[in-house]
Formats: sequence, C-alpha cells, structure tokens
Amino acid sequence: MKDQRGHSWAEPYKIKMVELLRMTTREERDHAIREAGYNTFLLRSRDVYIDLLTDSGTSAMSDRQWAGLMMGDEAYAGSENFYNLLGAVQEYYGYKYLVPTHQGRGAEHLMSQILIKEGDYIPGNMYFTTTRLHQEMAGGTFVDVIIDEAHDPASDHPFKGNVDLEKLDRLVREVGADKVPYISLEGCVNMAGGQPFSMANLRELHAYCRKHGIRIMLDATRTIENAWFIRRREEGYADTSIKDILREICDMTDGATMSAKKDLLVNIGGFFACNDEDVFLKAQNMVVVYEGLHTYGGLAGRDMEAMAQGLREAVLQEHQDARIGQVRYLGTKLRQYGVPIVCPIGSHAIFLDAKKFLPHLDQNLFPAQTLAAELYLDAGIRAMERGNVSAGRDPLTGENRRPPLELVRLTLPRRVYTQAHMDVVAESVANVYEHRDTIRGLKMVYEPDYLRFFQARFEPVK
Ligand SMILES: *Cc1c(COP(=O)(O)O)cnc(C)c1O
Repeated sequence: MKDQRGHSWAEPYKIKMVELLRMTTREERDHAIREAGYNTFLLRSRDVYIDLLTDSGTSAMSDRQWAGLMMGDEAYAGSENFYNLLGAVQEYYGYKYLVPTHQGRGAEHLMSQILIKEGDYIPGNMYFTTTRLHQEMAGGTFVDVIIDEAHDPASDHPFKGNVDLEKLDRLVREVGADKVPYISLEGCVNMAGGQPFSMANLRELHAYCRKHGIRIMLDATRTIENAWFIRRREEGYADTSIKDILREICDMTDGATMSAKKDLLVNIGGFFACNDEDVFLKAQNMVVVYEGLHTYGGLAGRDMEAMAQGLREAVLQEHQDARIGQVRYLGTKLRQYGVPIVCPIGSHAIFLDAKKFLPHLDQNLFPAQTLAAELYLDAGIRAMERGNVSAGRDPLTGENRRPPLELVRLTLPRRVYTQAHMDVVAESVANVYEHRDTIRGLKMVYEPDYLRFFQARFEPVK
C-alpha cells in the first residue's frame, strides 16, 4: 500500500527491545490444542508462535509511554495522571466529562445501567459481544441497524459500518422514540470485519437523532482508525487531519465508551466520557461502587499516563498508515493465494470467510472454530472464532443464533510483528486452505452461560 503521497509505508519507529518467540513442533501443538478444548482462548501463550488472537491490550508501547509509567502519581485521589488524561480526552475527543474504567466493558456497564430502562431498545451498527450483553443485563434489547452490505462478506461497499436510517426509523416508529435511549455507534465495526462508517452517514444520523431526541453514544474503541478511512475514502477529507476528523465525529455524538486497549496503544485501560452533566454525575457515583474512585476507575496512575501519551501517538497519520498498511499487506497476500476473506480489507484484522473456506461443514459443526484450531496446528498461529460460537444463543428461543457471518479473525497487534511475520502467516493459511477438504468439524462439549466463546470446550467429530 502507498501512503497519500504515493510512497510505500514503513513503521514510524525503530526497535529498542525485542521479546523472544518460542517455536513448537506439530506434536506439541497437537497436545496443546487438545488440552485447550480446541478453543484458542484456552491455549497458553507460551505455546503460540505468532499471536493474532486479538489487538486488545497487545500493542507495543513507545519509549514515551514507558517513560510515562515512571511518572505515575499513585495517589488514591486526584492523581496528576488523571488530569493529564482528562486534558488529552478533552483535546482529541472533545467530551467535557471523563470517568476512567479498568477497560471498555467497565464503561459499558456504567453507561448501560445509567441510560437503559427495562423494556428499552438499543439500536446499533452491528452488535459487539460485551456491549450487547451489558445492554441485555440492563433490561434492554439490542436491534441491529447496520446496512445489509455489512452482513455480506463479498460486498465491496467502502463504508460497511454505516447505519441504515430506514431500519432505524422502522424501529423508532414501531416502539416509539421514548423507548430508544440511544443508538450505539461503533467505528471500524469489529464484528463486520473492521468496517468504517462515513461522515456523511453520521451527519444524517445526527440530524435524525436530534429530531427524535435520541442520543448517539459512540463505541470509541477504533474511532481513530475509522477517521483514517474517512480521510482516505470520503470525498472532501483528503486534506483533513485524522485529529480534526476525530473531533468532527465526536462533536456529533453525546458521549462514548472506550476500550483504550485498542486505538490508544495501552495494555489496560478504558473510560466513559460524555457532555451531559447529569449522566456524568451518575457515572462518577457508580464507578466508585464497581471500579474505584472517579479519578482512577480501577487503573493505576501510570496506566492513565500511558493512555494519555498513547492517544497523542494514535492520531498521527504515519502511525495509522503503518498500522492499517500492515493489515492490508497481509490481506493482499491472502487474496493472492485465493483464500476467501471479507472485503474490503478492514482496520485491525483480516477475517477469513469460514463458510467459503470450509463449505462442506454445516454451521452446527462450528466451521470458524474448527478453522482457528487448524491454523494453530499448522504453524502455531493463534486466531479467534467470530461466528456461531461468538454469536451465542437467542435469549428467547435458546437456539444457536447461526449468524450470516462465520469468520476467523487474524488480528494484528499494533507495532508488534514485522512484515516477515505476515509472510509466514499468509503461507500457513494458504497451506491449510490447500488441504481444506480433509478438515472435519467440532462439537461443543462444555458451554458456559455468558460469552461462551471465551471458555467453551470442543472435541473433533468422529
Ligand atoms: C474490545 C471491545 C470492547 C470491550 O472492551 P474491553 O476493553 O475488552 O472490555 C467494546 N467494543 C468494541 C468494539 C471492542 O472491540
């Protein structure tokens, strides 16, 4: 991929310290995946060679972030690092109020409990696992209002994260605007393959929500990456900085939950931010019960300092060029091998289309879970299932949801692996693709009640 001046991208850093990797034999991997119940979440990290499980909390911090750790002000109350983070959030995201939390789901918990009443509906541009669960636990029902193209892995739509205003309007007319406390808007929609929304779509959504008195709450986890796509793909933004695009997005929303473990380049952290003083006061009070005092929210002072510095680095054009450039490099290679992946290539991961990869497996045999296990067996590469297991069961019928998308996610940590690692990954996926006909499915032998994909166990079918 070329940057906007037509030059090749390269990492805007050099490497000061390295972490040694362990390579394993096929026998060791056979043993390890069996022990893990064929669930890559249950593998031990020491048995993994290239870890593409998630981009959550797995980024490499910069020298300045590490220096920030030494500036940790570990006061119980009023830590200087909290005020540094508050200043950075106000500057880059533009929200008035900030409540730090230990990670994204901590913020989702606060927001869901504060804004959702029993019997409410929460539309969103596709679900995210923890987000929807917190909405349901607060008595709400999630309703998917993303455009249809997002559910089609073959669609080349440049903004598959867009909200379908007609779907939203249908819901609002059916249940009434007073039953819709907010719309949950996610940038670079994780479950759709890291697909962005456009500014034009947000502008329309904003006008609609103002008219009906509905809040827009941003899942800000990957909004900076979303801003990169707007600059690259949307007319009129080629000369606008990522920083300015981010502000334009946030200015059309009422608040945000944040998993800082993604965009913000830290290993732990998150926050809830908003402009409404009333909502803020409730969140500030509630955080004391569930996370910690409102000036640390479950984090150490040093974690907040690293987050503030991470935010300054995340909005840099050269950082995102390299970040998203690496994802595109891997995706392009896989396409050259003929491997079916979700189009267009998104922000943080390559999603293998397991239905096309393993067309001979019914969805009840968990093709994506099976494929993730096979990838590990081939070369020690750890990926994640995003299909029938992640989607869980319908709370009303108890049936498996059988989502249209049955995907395996190869997620790239930020600033961690090199282009040579990407070559090894692509070769291994291509190798598994070549012997795909011999792959059989899995059956679930242990199913936990909540977010089952994390801890479910499987056995190969006979
Ligand atoms: C990771 C993530 C969350 C949850 O955040 P955690 O920090 O893992 O608790 C919420 N929304 C999206 C889109 C995410 O990717």
